[in-house]
Amino acid sequence: MLFATKQRFLLILAVILMLTPAFLLSAGLLGRAPMFDGDERKEMTCIVCDGVGRTASEESCNTCRGRGVADFILPGPNRPLQLVGTVLGPDNKPIEGAEAAARQAEGDQTELIMTTNHEGQFGIKLPPGEYVVRVRAEGIGSVQESLLVEHNPEPLPAKSYETHHKIEKDFKLQK
Ligand SMILES: [Zn+2]
Repeated sequence: MLFATKQRFLLILAVILMLTPAFLLSAGLLGRAPMFDGDERKEMTCIVCDGVGRTASEESCNTCRGRGVADFILPGPNRPLQLVGTVLGPDNKPIEGAEAAARQAEGDQTELIMTTNHEGQFGIKLPPGEYVVRVRAEGIGSVQESLLVEHNPEPLPAKSYETHHKIEKDFKLQK
């Protein structure tokens, strides 16, 4: 009986702990950016508004909400970067519905496959490393390119969006 009471107490304690902001933050349940191995979170002078709280257009800075300081993520070597690829046909027009597949240059050959939107764009999050990206569109053409994704240590605002450095690259299809 005593044992059962103690177990119930521990269960209630566990539930209370799970409802604390620290747990919810670490679990990403409050809409905060996910953390990757080696990342650090740090409150810094806001780099978006240079700590003045206002942007060039005199509007309050969204990142620090006018406080001049905000939480930033210092990306570790494992934080993925966002490849934003634009697929162009031989006439330089964006191609909707093209298939883009990325795989590591060495080792695991699993492909991540995406389809382009109406602007001819696709996005894939890739940890730093060397990749091969092949793109093809039925009846239009294909292209294959090597891609080096390099660790970018520049701080990122710790928001649920905009938490990956971007790499923009065009992929021009050939017959
Ligand atoms: Zn700011």
